[in-house]
Amino acid sequence: MLTIEDVLKNTKLKLDAKREALIRSAYQTALTAHAGQKRKSGEDYIQHCLGTALNLAKIGMRSKTISAGLLHDVPEDTQMTLSEIEEKFGSEIAKLVDGVTKLGKIKLRGTKEENYLENLRKMFLAMAEDIRVVLIKLADRLYNMETLESLPEEKRARIARETLDVFAPIANRLGIGDIKAKLENLAFKHLDRKNYDYVLEISQQQQQQRKKHIEIIINTLRKELSSERIRVINIFGRTKHLYSLFQKMKKHDMDINKIYDLSGIRIIVPEVVNCYETLGIVHKKYRPLVGRIKDYISLPKPNGYQSIHTTIFGPEGKFLEIQIRTQKMDDEAEFGIASHWFYTENKKSFKNLFFPKKIEPHKEDILWVKQLREWQNELGKNDEEFIESLKIDFFKNHIFAFTPLGDVIDLPEEATPIDFAYKVHSEIGDRATSAKANNQMVPLDYKVKNGDVIEIITSKDYKNPSRDWLRFVKTSIAKSHIKKFMKKDGMI
Ligand code: MN
Repeated sequence: MLTIEDVLKNTKLKLDAKREALIRSAYQTALTAHAGQKRKSGEDYIQHCLGTALNLAKIGMRSKTISAGLLHDVPEDTQMTLSEIEEKFGSEIAKLVDGVTKLGKIKLRGTKEENYLENLRKMFLAMAEDIRVVLIKLADRLYNMETLESLPEEKRARIARETLDVFAPIANRLGIGDIKAKLENLAFKHLDRKNYDYVLEISQQQQQQRKKHIEIIINTLRKELSSERIRVINIFGRTKHLYSLFQKMKKHDMDINKIYDLSGIRIIVPEVVNCYETLGIVHKKYRPLVGRIKDYISLPKPNGYQSIHTTIFGPEGKFLEIQIRTQKMDDEAEFGIASHWFYTENKKSFKNLFFPKKIEPHKEDILWVKQLREWQNELGKNDEEFIESLKIDFFKNHIFAFTPLGDVIDLPEEATPIDFAYKVHSEIGDRATSAKANNQMVPLDYKVKNGDVIEIITSKDYKNPSRDWLRFVKTSIAKSHIKKFMKKDGMI
């Protein structure tokens, strides 16, 4: 059973009285609003809110995001409205909660479209006006995955599949290795229990065998580094997470002996220069395996990952991977985009932070900014303001609307229900008589808004396109269908 104290003591930044009071107040509000509600597992609903908030605290999110995490299901699932939340907690938190509610409407069903998952990922980003909305959604999904056991098998499999296809890649793109690994492992467990158990057993066996071995190396290196006057922030043994181990084993005929980075040691030192000094000391003590030294500090991975990796022969001739990096590199690798919030404690403006007047060497570049740039390049848009304002608007000229079944329809700005209808199917366009947006009747020239659920009411008996529609439709697909119909009908 989680309590609000679990959330408060897991924040990465120390909370001042005001921030703590905000979180407690959000908790009280959520507790009251969800009173009497139960989850499928039988636990009180508030557990889900606390679990989401705890996951946010652990990746370094701050009081407003944690509060929004506590409140994220309130407008959708309780009597309390979004405007009441806004009144009580202000517009920033209300906007975050609203963003999460909108993201919740995306469903993964009823489509054969090939690029559907990719569209979904893009839309996920486009929908989120604020990247924190996506982080709350990831934290929410992680808690649901952690408590998946209580659902029927079919539903478990669907959610686990969606997690693997959509949520884990998003966590990966945001550089949040910590959440990505947790989501993948949990999805793996629910989708492929046999292989999961098998890999788990092998991994535990190997860990047991290497435990002593690793301890010896850690102690030796600790001594060596200290005699060379290198401060070690942290040095610890680590194991490859199960899903990525499984992926790697599949590539190597399921032979565990071919996997060199199954377990290893990570050394965290203060400065970049210490990383190279440490590498020298490691190699002086243990012979490196040729071709396995990787300097991702001077040559970061495409997603911005930085670290030095080397594989050494340990005391008993066993291979072992050693990773060397600074604290900041480690935080960025684990928490990615989220690490931004705990590296901007002192309220520097984003602009100064990311575009310093003097161009710093790339090692100073923040990982997630790189990722956003990469994203932008991929999506063929370039809008530096977006980075400054932290808003994701690659899709400024796009609107994403939903069918009542949750399918996503991508439309240009100022598109109307008729554009929507033709995008779904020409028959639906031809037979459209009226439309609803979010359950309210709207005129056919209504301008569809991002996140609208559009329902097209059609006539079984007749086709209805009118010359009038050409005045307001925006898409060429709608225009050409309307013209085609009128030609056939002798109207043009
Ligand atoms: Mn939720």
